[in-house]
Amino acid sequence: MVPEMRRQMRMRMLLVVAALAVGGAVWLGAQIQRDSATIATERLRAAAALRAAVVDEVTALQGLETDRDAVAAIRSEGHREFQRAVALLEDAAEEDARVDRALDAVKAAEARWRDRADALSAAADERSARRTKATQTLLERFDTAVDGLDAELERLRVDDQAVSMLATIILALLAVLVVVGGGMYVLHRRLRAEAAVAEAERRHRQRQDELGRALLSAASEDEVHELLERHLGHGRDGRTVAVLESDPDRDRLVTRTALDPAGQLSTALADAAPRDCAAVRLGAPHAEGAGEEPPLVRCEVCAGAGRDRLCAPLVASGEVIGSVLAAQDAPLDEDTRRQVAESVTIAAPVLANLRTIALAETRAATDPLTGLPNRRALDDMLKRMVAQSLRRESPLAVVSIDLDHFKDVNDRFGHDKGDAVLAAVGATLRASTRAGDVVGRWGGEEFLVLAPDTPLAGGLALAETLRAAVEEIAVVGVELPITASMGVAICPDDATATDLLLRQADRGLYAAKRLGRNRVARHGDADPVEGAAAPEPTPA
Ligand code: GH3
Ligand code: MG
Ligand code: MG
Repeated sequence: MVPEMRRQMRMRMLLVVAALAVGGAVWLGAQIQRDSATIATERLRAAAALRAAVVDEVTALQGLETDRDAVAAIRSEGHREFQRAVALLEDAAEEDARVDRALDAVKAAEARWRDRADALSAAADERSARRTKATQTLLERFDTAVDGLDAELERLRVDDQAVSMLATIILALLAVLVVVGGGMYVLHRRLRAEAAVAEAERRHRQRQDELGRALLSAASEDEVHELLERHLGHGRDGRTVAVLESDPDRDRLVTRTALDPAGQLSTALADAAPRDCAAVRLGAPHAEGAGEEPPLVRCEVCAGAGRDRLCAPLVASGEVIGSVLAAQDAPLDEDTRRQVAESVTIAAPVLANLRTIALAETRAATDPLTGLPNRRALDDMLKRMVAQSLRRESPLAVVSIDLDHFKDVNDRFGHDKGDAVLAAVGATLRASTRAGDVVGRWGGEEFLVLAPDTPLAGGLALAETLRAAVEEIAVVGVELPITASMGVAICPDDATATDLLLRQADRGLYAAKRLGRNRVARHGDADPVEGAAAPEPTPA
């Protein structure tokens, strides 16, 4: 806005200068023309005065004035008139040699006539006729000389007029040059400014297109966050760019962006609810900073992130799923502000889509009753953990678990109570294992526990812990002991192939069932051994 105003000011200034230049040139031209016309008129008038002065004297001499003193007075006045007229023409004579010569001729002719007239006027009055005749020839010569001067003055007038006309044309051309030159300068500047804007726009579009393409190739929300942070210059020139996610289940606002843990933003986010972020709350971009009017709604989250801050909501399908914050101490430039606003509109649907996919994948891999991984997920994890165990040469314990006489629970207390027992067993198993262990529902009333870095002794001890924990479960309305039988197999001791490892664990489970249930066993434990007693059952 400000550069546009400055441009308009310059344009107005240029118009004023152009108007002044043209007006000045016209005025100056007219002035020169008028001056030269005035001078020419005055000169011609002076030439006429030369003639008139002599005519006055001649008239007096012809006897119209009989009084001798009067004649003398008229003649001396005429002579003075003549001298005055000559004086008026001196500058023209100085200016032009031909006028100079013509004026000299006039002066000489007048002088000759005057000498003769003076000489004759001293003689008797009665000879006035003769006297007149005698001066006639000299008078005619004087007239001819004045005619010559007239002609030269007329020529000088025409020449001067031509010069003043030329001066006027040159001035007009200069004025046109000023106007055209100024106009071209302004046009050039304007075109250059427009080209710079177009180039900035092209670069902006290119960057946004690049972001769009990169986002389409993103396979996870993490990748999208990282792309957004890099695109918007996280860490560049002291700028913080953080993608804030709204987690409605926990009523929390969280970020995956690596932030200074002691920084104010990290502290603010530690216990921030989604609506603490003004952009999330308002569903619209929110700016706070030195150059901004203090907003009606202050943001609780970003206050310490930088002196100038802009936060834009991530909106997908009409729902605000988070926001993108850009903050720094120096003012955020227009380009960055625009980039933030546009980037969230490209990223939001991608994020929402990836979130939906991630949720669907979690759902597909989770047993809804217990919230534990289901058989499909367990299968994948078992394969991965077996491979890892072999690679790291570290034993993996597999515990196969089956609830004892579970059919009775269903039959006596109903399917719902059966479900409640299954959920309680799932929670107990999870609570009784380490974070690195995997607990899943294999199907029906069967569970599987995978414990990495666990040799046989540890596996048996773990299974015994689990068995004892299940035995402690009490579900309201189920007046039957809840117990489980368990089989333990170890990779690589019992098998290195997943299906065989599972089969060995199941063989242990069947052995436990056969040996009386509510116990832990290994494959082969219940096999009849020649010449040996059956193995001691684990405490029931
Ligand atoms: P055993 O000690 O020999 O294992 O006896 P059991 O009764 O536990 O074994 P059986 O295989 O005869 O019965 C398993 C029962 O588990 C049958 C089935 O109805 C029940 N069951 C399987 N899945 C579910 C479930 O999701 N909810 C409920 N309530 N019951 C289930
Ligand atoms: Mg079963
Ligand atoms: Mg069973």
